[in-house]
Amino acid sequence: MNKKSILLVFSLLIIGLTDCTGNKMPESLFDGNNLDKWNAQGDVKLENQVLSLGSDASIILKKGDFKNFELKLTARTVNNGKGFIAFHTDNDGNGGYQVALNNDLENPQWWTKTGSLLAVRNLTKSLVKTNEWFDMTIRVEGKTITVKLNDRPVVDYTEPVSTYRSAEHAGQLLSQGGICIKNTGDGNIEFKSMEIIPIDVSGLDIEKIQQEKSIDETTDNIIRLHQENFPVLDYHVHLKGGLTGELAAEQSRKYGINYALAPNCGIGFPITNDQQVIHYLDSMKGQPFIQAMQGEGREWPQTFSKEVCDKFDYVFTDAMTFIDTKGNRTRLWMPDEVFIDNEQKYMDLIVQKIVDVMQEPMDVYVNPTFLPDQMNDRYDEFWTEERMNKAIAAMVATGKALEINNRYRIPHKAFIQKAKDAGLKFTFGTNNMDADFGKLDYCIEMKNACGITAQDMFKPKMKE
Ligand SMILES: [Zn+2]
Repeated sequence: MNKKSILLVFSLLIIGLTDCTGNKMPESLFDGNNLDKWNAQGDVKLENQVLSLGSDASIILKKGDFKNFELKLTARTVNNGKGFIAFHTDNDGNGGYQVALNNDLENPQWWTKTGSLLAVRNLTKSLVKTNEWFDMTIRVEGKTITVKLNDRPVVDYTEPVSTYRSAEHAGQLLSQGGICIKNTGDGNIEFKSMEIIPIDVSGLDIEKIQQEKSIDETTDNIIRLHQENFPVLDYHVHLKGGLTGELAAEQSRKYGINYALAPNCGIGFPITNDQQVIHYLDSMKGQPFIQAMQGEGREWPQTFSKEVCDKFDYVFTDAMTFIDTKGNRTRLWMPDEVFIDNEQKYMDLIVQKIVDVMQEPMDVYVNPTFLPDQMNDRYDEFWTEERMNKAIAAMVATGKALEINNRYRIPHKAFIQKAKDAGLKFTFGTNNMDADFGKLDYCIEMKNACGITAQDMFKPKMKE
């Protein structure tokens, strides 16, 4: 063999192991024919080239020590089977990270849908449905973990230098190791194919570059909520002030906060009739957002049909718009529309309007206890025990949930505490003006101050 031929053979050998981007070739972990690469436990079947895990069943790779990789699989949950795929595990399947398989819309734990990086980046919206096949990609590259469902990114998490992990989740760290899949639900989890492509990241200082852009978990509140299994959802986000759907999805992945998007629906607002609602909801299909509706003015229940309102995961409204005693249309946040002769009487009027609004066919009372500028500096004086009790009693009687509003930092603690004691459910909402709207700081402060638990949070209806 001459020099040229040796070079050619050598080149072919290298091409055989890596593709042109430096990635290694895919290795099939399951192709429908056998389970040779796995150790199975419990009710595990291979039928019609489909691998099926029954309740409590699990499979662990016999061999595999993967660090940087892309794992691609085609799966479905059947009759609300649910569980997870774990990577970087030890030989018993423990440790590492877990990605959820869960499309159960009835589950009381409604915030760990398919694609969730469990307890780190939990997802409230399922982009895929029970009984339907979908593609999932889990990619670990340096310190970054991404998850895609049907090619749409749902998780983008970079492990920082200093992580925050609770004692229960102390093992959730990148290292290297095996892969384990477990069904913890009642139905089945099924797979058509699984393959893994090791990724070569050598030669780059990729981890350092990634970590410079990561979130500092020594101070981040959001990772703490995920770790304690608390739903992380901003229930009140508007696409306005430069915030597009695409930007919202990207920011949601970056912060680890799920968003509920709500169009403003009412006379003089972007959406004024049923047809526009239907058009809007069509445009939101397949997007990673909970869908909420904000009813505006006091005429919204007449403007929109019940059938159309019911298409949303929930409906909310505030009590900031009303007709005052002199017949003026009042919007409390507009100083030139607020006419006050007697502040105490005006306060009684505000409380009465709140009580009246509870009769409307909505789920969540938002921007709650808002006072006009002129009175807001004495918020705690105006919101007496008696007035708080009156508003909360009206909410209890009509089964409404209460928003803790991040932008206005309302209600104050005393009201929230009373609402909690009365058994009301809560939402955390920003009501943003633009694309830069923070991370629910006031809501989390009140959650901790008043001892609000995951079970105290309002569960959206989870329409598909
Ligand atoms: Zn709003």
